[in-house]
Amino acid sequence: QAPVAGLGGWPARRARIAPDRTALADPHRTLTYAQLADRTARLAGALERLGVQRGDRVAYLGVNAVEVFETFFATWLLGAIAVPLNYRLSGPEIRYMLEDSGASVLVHSADTDALVDAAAPLPAGVRDVVAVHPASCPAGGRDYGAEVAAGPALAEEPSVGLDDAALILYTSGTTGRPKGAVLTHGNLTWNTINYLAHVDVLSTDRALCIAPLFHCVGLGQVTLPTLFKGGSVELVPKADPGVVLERVSAARITSFSAVPTMLQMMCEHPAWDTADLSSLAVVQYGGSPVQERVARAWLDRGVRLLQGYGMTEASPGVYMSTHDGTAAHPTAVGVPHFFTDVAQLRDGRPEPVGGEPAELLVRGPHVFPGYWGRPEETAASFVDGQWFRTGDVLRVDEDGWAHVVDRVKDVFISGGENVYPAEVEAVAVQLDEVAGCAVVGLRDERWGEVGVGYVELRDGATLTEEQLRAHLEAHLARYKVPRHLVVVGELPRNATGKIRRVELRTRAADEHAVVSPRP
Ligand code: ATP
Ligand code: MG
Repeated sequence: QAPVAGLGGWPARRARIAPDRTALADPHRTLTYAQLADRTARLAGALERLGVQRGDRVAYLGVNAVEVFETFFATWLLGAIAVPLNYRLSGPEIRYMLEDSGASVLVHSADTDALVDAAAPLPAGVRDVVAVHPASCPAGGRDYGAEVAAGPALAEEPSVGLDDAALILYTSGTTGRPKGAVLTHGNLTWNTINYLAHVDVLSTDRALCIAPLFHCVGLGQVTLPTLFKGGSVELVPKADPGVVLERVSAARITSFSAVPTMLQMMCEHPAWDTADLSSLAVVQYGGSPVQERVARAWLDRGVRLLQGYGMTEASPGVYMSTHDGTAAHPTAVGVPHFFTDVAQLRDGRPEPVGGEPAELLVRGPHVFPGYWGRPEETAASFVDGQWFRTGDVLRVDEDGWAHVVDRVKDVFISGGENVYPAEVEAVAVQLDEVAGCAVVGLRDERWGEVGVGYVELRDGATLTEEQLRAHLEAHLARYKVPRHLVVVGELPRNATGKIRRVELRTRAADEHAVVSPRP
């Protein structure tokens, strides 16, 4: 039986149906499906001449642009593995990822010249550096523009199937060092099918790709499904709330996917009230908890919201809310995707979901085969070799709707009681003055652990520790209220808006002596 084709063939297959429809656009270029297929085949030819073979890794460093997709599709045509890198990392971190993934080619955009310099010396395995902007082409480097425009197309397409690796996507590094999750062509194809089974996507859609493409939210949700259906995707180089509002109004955007922090920045932006949101059919969010008032601000504008819950390792979609349900439960993550099986870990075994909160397990054709070069971590992340341990505690209602309670690693035990920081944080952000909150556990001689709460206030807002404490005590059991409350200028966040708790834990340990005050 012939294998089902890999992702590299998508542009050409779409071009058979609608060659002249716009596939991708960024501020510099617009490509139809036929042009995308042609340029992808040429770039694949160029990469092949650089010696890239099936299974080799091709890294991409740069902001969202048409070239990101050209590089992905070309790499996939060759059966090679694309490795998108986070341009907000430091030079040494980039070097670590190039080394860890064993990339042989690095394609990078002009705005990352300094970062590539900072990553020097590049690992010896990186044989070629290809610069997207000719002006930035380093000595000995290759000019992407010349290679693509001049190069002949790939002579013979290798057969690439669903079990072949397509991407090494690094996790956000919220709980430790980012891990390279290997996603196969099949994983991404099934995630696309899961998405399409859940959400109405049309060939007339105009999606906006805001989330960076080195993160699973940017690629898996909205973007690949829209390209699969033959719609158009406009890429925003760097997500800025004002720019996104402007593009939604001006280009009559129908859908986008974003992290909750972006939705929050947008509804607090001066242009929010005048922005025309009437074209939006779907706004999909996920990746971290959403504040109820933020979701309400969007629902009040008549926008249809869908909350997704997932992770890099699941390509990423696991749960998603529904059009009918989101308004009633804007903070819930809905129901599992069509081809997704879920269970909860109880006494080390996968059990049917429901009842008390417990760690969620996921199984399905979109769940990754493992971490790149980390057999032990891969083995430890599966139960029975097939259920992926999400590391997240979820509560599943009787109607099957799920709520993310917190990460297993963030839960701390104070005086024998479990404290879920997310629950405390959700109460803190009910106050209008509070823009964000993060609670971490701190070792304590008397109670085992106590909470330290860091609070970021809205611009111009004032709030005393007593006022905040009074609010928390009025809504939470005493053992859940953090022992220490600290107002900070800004909470430390990573590129996808997640709070870097590791940093706050260190800070808490530094600033608060491990001595229990007298009761
Ligand atoms: P690392 O695995 O390196 O520690 P990470 O888990 O943050 O980092 P990602 O794969 O980007 O890396 O994020 C997936 C995680 O994000 C999930 O495991 C979950 O903790 C959190 N998450 C995703 N969607 C939601 C959501 N809708 N609500 C709350 N949390 C979410
Ligand atoms: Mg994770």
